Amino acid sequence: MRPLIAGNWKMHGSLAEASALASGVAAGSVKDAELLVCPPFPYLIPVKEALGGAVALGAQDCHAAPKGAHTGDVSAPMLADLGATYVILGHSERRADHGETDEVVLRKAEAALKAGLVPVVCVGESEAQRVSGEAEGVVAAQLAGSLPQGFAEAGGVVAYEPVWAIGTGRTPTEEDIAAMHARIRAELVHCFGAAGEGLRILYGGSVKPGNAKAILALPHVDGALVGGASLVAADFLGIASAA
Ligand code: PGA
Repeated sequence: MRPLIAGNWKMHGSLAEASALASGVAAGSVKDAELLVCPPFPYLIPVKEALGGAVALGAQDCHAAPKGAHTGDVSAPMLADLGATYVILGHSERRADHGETDEVVLRKAEAALKAGLVPVVCVGESEAQRVSGEAEGVVAAQLAGSLPQGFAEAGGVVAYEPVWAIGTGRTPTEEDIAAMHARIRAELVHCFGAAGEGLRILYGGSVKPGNAKAILALPHVDGALVGGASLVAADFLGIASAA
């Protein structure tokens, strides 16, 4: 399966920086991976223009409703309308900052599918859950609660991001990443049958050019969701070329 290397720019950058970063990513020649960048909402259109079509465009969230009285929110059809093809949903920062539950993520993922967007559904345990041995159970429950019908047909993506590895420079051991990705694969097959075998499972959490090769070589690791290192074009492209 062709790996997906996705950049989650979070709430970083200015208009000029976003355009320059997108141009830098677009100038890279990466053949063995699909590239995706997910800028903040206000920069989606200029970033799309700077990308010029070789790199996919995604958003970092959408509302569950297609339209309506929801001040400050952005709908999935709006994102599709301006050329986004992916949307990150249920990132642990949204779960923490906005109280998003699995049920909320499920509704958003349904909205994304309806609008023709590919959802990138994020799951992952906290440090306390890892230490107490609950990590796999927590992730399995998140998947069961947040993946909608039609997810497999749409080529939906799961991103495993241990909360304690995000932005910290710490990562799980290769054995722990492999074990979790095998568990996620089993859950996807349980939910979607044979189609679950072909869905991409990304690892996210402190992926850098220096650790990307080892992580991306693990079984059932089909790409990466990259935060901090996606803000420097050379680092993002370095990770992509390790795929
Ligand atoms: P990080 O973030 O690469 O900075 O750890 C990953 C993410 O939150 O998607």
